[in-house]
Amino acid sequence: MEVSPNAYRPHRYLLPALLLPVLLLALAGCGDPAAPAAGGAGTGGAGDSGGAGESAPATPELEPHPDFTMTQAELEALTANAPRAARAAVAEKPQYFLELAAQLLALPSVQLRLVDKDHALPADAVPDDLVVLDRYADVLTLNRSGLSLRAALIPDLLAMVEAARQDGILLPISSTYRSYEYQAGLFERHVENLGEEQAARVSARPGTSQHQLGTALDFGSITLEFADTAAGEWLAAHARDYGFSMSYPDGYEELTGYSYEPWHFRWIGRTATGMETAFFDGLQQHMLEFWNEHEAELRRKLK
Ligand SMILES: [Zn+2]
Repeated sequence: MEVSPNAYRPHRYLLPALLLPVLLLALAGCGDPAAPAAGGAGTGGAGDSGGAGESAPATPELEPHPDFTMTQAELEALTANAPRAARAAVAEKPQYFLELAAQLLALPSVQLRLVDKDHALPADAVPDDLVVLDRYADVLTLNRSGLSLRAALIPDLLAMVEAARQDGILLPISSTYRSYEYQAGLFERHVENLGEEQAARVSARPGTSQHQLGTALDFGSITLEFADTAAGEWLAAHARDYGFSMSYPDGYEELTGYSYEPWHFRWIGRTATGMETAFFDGLQQHMLEFWNEHEAELRRKLK
């Protein structure tokens, strides 16, 4: 069973007859015929067909992806000021990067909108597809009534909660959509209790909270201890598989503007968490900053 694919491969791809003996010789000397340089992306879609790439090394003039009018050199220029790890990852897997980018460009822009201390939402920005979670009270664990989120993420949320339950874990939801006005009151209370400087480390000024997007949610106790609970550990390991990304990871306060929040996740969708994982070291802030800066340019390069 394992041998036959190699034998049939040349026929399937209709390689020129002259190449056949060469290829077979090469395979004969190779203990692991699956190894050739098909690239590390691993996810089916972009796999380049057979050995064609071996005889045609990439040149700067080639376009790495058929959906974009962009050469390898132009892609490198686009990522020139991205974090070093991201630059390296894009250079290594340009086709996979552009494949994910094409998918992300098809989404509503708000899904990847950068909202942080320097990028605020207007006071009147209210999602138009909010749903009250009480409707799903039989499957969700809700710490209070009246919580709401955007309809767009409900399928991924339900799938994630179901997967956690299959692992014997409940994911209690404590906070979800917050309006600009609500956030204003919340920040004011933090200032009264902690002073302005400390309040800004743990709470967002109105307009700068991801919760106003209707796609961010807080789980469990909303304390650091949550990281060591079963739910906290499960989310840290699996949330990205369902399109949820930890916004304020441990050790990145300088980058994100916030101290560690193991309970706070923003839904950006599974394609985006895939992009974040493959190209931005799993750092949402790096990816959203990049996207915020380059989305328009990538869109212009779409065919
Ligand atoms: Zn939060």
